[in-house]
Amino acid sequence: MNTLYYQAKFVLSAPDLKSTPLDTGREVAFAGRSNAGKSSALNTLTNQKSLARISKTPGRTQLLNFFTLNEEQRFVDLPGYGYAKVPVAVKKKWQLLMETYLSERQSLYGIILVMDIRHPLTEFDMQMIEWCTYSKKPLHILLTKADKLNYGAAKNTLLAVQRELAELEMPVTLQLFSALKKMGVDEIHQRLDEWFQEPEAPEET
Ligand code: GDP
Repeated sequence: MNTLYYQAKFVLSAPDLKSTPLDTGREVAFAGRSNAGKSSALNTLTNQKSLARISKTPGRTQLLNFFTLNEEQRFVDLPGYGYAKVPVAVKKKWQLLMETYLSERQSLYGIILVMDIRHPLTEFDMQMIEWCTYSKKPLHILLTKADKLNYGAAKNTLLAVQRELAELEMPVTLQLFSALKKMGVDEIHQRLDEWFQEPEAPEET
């Protein structure tokens, strides 16, 4: 058990890159379409009841919400957008914020993408995956609400998504998760441990 994640504390919400904490150390960002189960996943893996509530506070839903683990390590809760009926202006603003953050943030090490196991690989998810590929950031996918399916069906979805993403030229890992059943917590802790502890990759030549 790694209790580092239990120490997560909200620091600030940023509307743009200028307002973010210093771009040093290492951070892991959490992405997911609204209602995918991202807040529940964040609360579960930090063992806190309402850590991610801040990200749902009106006015903060379209911001980058930062949480510190220690001086050098952070989580970032990225804004999701909802279903198809989002005003174009909101979608554009979101796209610009995401693109800038994902391409320019030096301390961003990897992205955890949370998908409802019953609705994987939505348009939102594909956009995030495309950006991760473009910015060459490792991606770890949580297929959450796994308790909604029986184990066989959940495993089949995992394999189907894995096959779908096998062609990508970047490291993608995925796992089953359930906030309700606290399933998959050790697995995501392990992935985070690796990301936070891995030495910097050498520059490409
Ligand atoms: P977010 O919008 O992505 O942050 O989603 P939330 O974490 O707020 O979850 C959306 C809804 O799904 C809420 O009603 C949660 O109670 C429910 N939910 C989230 N995770 C799970 C899970 O693992 N299992 C089940 N059965 N429901 C979940």
